[in-house]
Amino acid sequence: MLKVEHITKYYDNNKAVDDLSFEVPDGKIFGLLGVNGAGKTTTFRMIIGLLEPTEGKITLDGKPIDYDVTDTIGFLTEERSLLTKLTVKEQIIYYGTLKGMKEEDILRELDYWLERFQITEYKDRKIKELSKGNQQKVQFISAVINNPKLLILDEPFSGLDPINVEMFMEAIREFKKRGSSIIFSSHRMEHVEMFCENLVILVKGKSVLEGELKQIKKEYRKKNIHIKGIVDLEKIRKISGVSKVIENADEIIVKIDNDSIVSAVFEVVKKGKDIIEFSVEDPTLNEIFLSKVGESYEK
Ligand code: ATP
Repeated sequence: MLKVEHITKYYDNNKAVDDLSFEVPDGKIFGLLGVNGAGKTTTFRMIIGLLEPTEGKITLDGKPIDYDVTDTIGFLTEERSLLTKLTVKEQIIYYGTLKGMKEEDILRELDYWLERFQITEYKDRKIKELSKGNQQKVQFISAVINNPKLLILDEPFSGLDPINVEMFMEAIREFKKRGSSIIFSSHRMEHVEMFCENLVILVKGKSVLEGELKQIKKEYRKKNIHIKGIVDLEKIRKISGVSKVIENADEIIVKIDNDSIVSAVFEVVKKGKDIIEFSVEDPTLNEIFLSKVGESYEK
């Protein structure tokens, strides 16, 4: 289990991370969310020991993170750091050796991942000859070659097409099954929503929302009503507690401030025509994120 307790980081007078605490149990996927400059990369750098927190404590299975445990950590950096003149094989051997692995173990793992990512034919090709997406796969392999207990992924999906996003997600889920703790950052809420269980939203280094994704959604009072059919939208707009009505090509979305508005909207919809759907749904994580980030910028 990764435990981050009250960490704060200053760069000169700039507070990049402000009293941040969270835990990532074994076999859990944790999302660290925030806009540019929120403090995600700084937090990751502190976790892997590249930066010293100004205050606070970080432990992995109860032990401080130092050279003794770094061999059990995998880190996919945001500023991808491949040595592009090397071949894929040379690159991975280099990273695996840095993690204290034997060459035969590195090559066994490498073959497994190359096959899984369907890039076996690039094993002896120079990195610079690979497409961006394939370079990213090699970068991912270099982060996981040591079968890490703690896997840290800074923006793992950036620049990937949807098929490769799914491939990476499957690979990350495999580490969850193996019992690793996984922590990743992203700007893309739909990626977080798809497979992350717990999360923290950072704004200017401070947590503005944290907890279990399901619970966060449940507790967020604002909901969306989805309607398919012909209804009197003017009447719906006039209901107090209706914050917005969006007319999409195939459905109407009514944004409401809380559950108590549902029956008033339903009364109007009942009088409509050709109604084939009326459902109340939780907001998307993106909506929660925007509302939380907006609120804290206003402070
Ligand atoms: P992004 O999504 O853009 O990568 P981030 O959430 O990872 O952003 P950080 O890179 O951790 O954010 O930056 C947090 C704050 O710390 C920012 O105000 C940034 O300008 C500042 N900062 C980051 N690295 C340094 C550094 N090496 N020296 C001084 N200030 C820094």
